Amino acid sequence: MKRINLQKAKSQIARPNTIRDINRQIVLNYVRDRSPISRAEIARQTALHRSTVSVIVDDLESTGLIIGIGEGTSSGGRKPTMYKLRTGSPVAVGIDVTPRTTTIALADLGGTVLEQETFSTSPDLEFMTSQILDRTRNLVTRYSEFDLEIGMSVPGLVDQRLGRIFHVPYFDWRDWDICQRIEQVTGKRVIVENDANATSLAELWFGYEKIRKSDTFVMVLVGEGIGTGIIFDGQVYRGEMGAGGEFGHMIAGDNAPIECSCGSRECWEAYASEKAMLQRYRELLKHDDLKENGTDIENLIELAMNGEKHALMALKETAYYLGNGISNLIVGLSPQVVVVSGKITKAWDLFADELRRISERSVLAGLPPTVLIPSSLGDAPTLIGAIGLVLARKFASAS
Ligand SMILES: [Zn+2]
Repeated sequence: MKRINLQKAKSQIARPNTIRDINRQIVLNYVRDRSPISRAEIARQTALHRSTVSVIVDDLESTGLIIGIGEGTSSGGRKPTMYKLRTGSPVAVGIDVTPRTTTIALADLGGTVLEQETFSTSPDLEFMTSQILDRTRNLVTRYSEFDLEIGMSVPGLVDQRLGRIFHVPYFDWRDWDICQRIEQVTGKRVIVENDANATSLAELWFGYEKIRKSDTFVMVLVGEGIGTGIIFDGQVYRGEMGAGGEFGHMIAGDNAPIECSCGSRECWEAYASEKAMLQRYRELLKHDDLKENGTDIENLIELAMNGEKHALMALKETAYYLGNGISNLIVGLSPQVVVVSGKITKAWDLFADELRRISERSVLAGLPPTVLIPSSLGDAPTLIGAIGLVLARKFASAS
């Protein structure tokens, strides 16, 4: 799935076998990014022939992807019809499996969630399989008149081309055939992706403009663990067997506050994840002879934002290690942007300066500094990631 760079789009109008698909997607992307827009304006900006644009616009309108929204202004003659993406009706089901909760949501073409349900994730694979199958089938049945596709995000090793989930390390689930089973019971296509890759694709398609316009960026997903997604030249960099981007397990020291999900105390994840931050907080309380009350990550972030000193210290120390790791990524990959995702970004203002200070150490003299920004995808970036898999396929070029 490659995002069409509109600046480069003119040079993509070429190969005869895919010309129709590519032109269709270029027009759809112009409507998405520059709406409201008229047929004449699309033709002018894309250098496609007026009649070609008209055929494509008619097709996109009849398949329900775009709608006419009245007349624009004219420089003389008939006023043109303006077009925009069709929003408000369901096109995508997103299934987001995380270590604590699983969410199934229905979304429109703009990525807006129309309805969702969240339930606790169980380590029992059989139970989870039947929960997801039942709930997804119910949702799809209720919206049977819509042409839905399903996107799924899992915290594990995935072959997205074959739709196979090899391993979910957190629960040690292996060869999970959930995608095939969802396809059997719903008759709908399922696109599956590793959570960090799905989230970085969602950043590419639905994130801040600065991210959408950069071809090369790294997304750091801070959650129970740490996931990273690398977007290189507008596509996910996957590496051998799709195992690329596992920077969460790079060595960051030898004395982390917790064990990594892989069992080591040396991994970046064991220093800079939510779990590491919670453990630091517990230790700080213990140090001051205070009792802990089962604080979860949301509480901890709120406490830090309210100025509670133990929570604030746990947050800042975690941010220090987060910055250290990011500085290594910058040294190795020299991305245009690093985007940080996850609940921790709620408290961005409390640690952004520290993060920038640490990560800027590693920028080579003379190079423009890597831009460091929080995600705009909100509290549930992996859910937007799951939904985005379906949407991106509709907007992505066939190449
Ligand atoms: Zn590890």
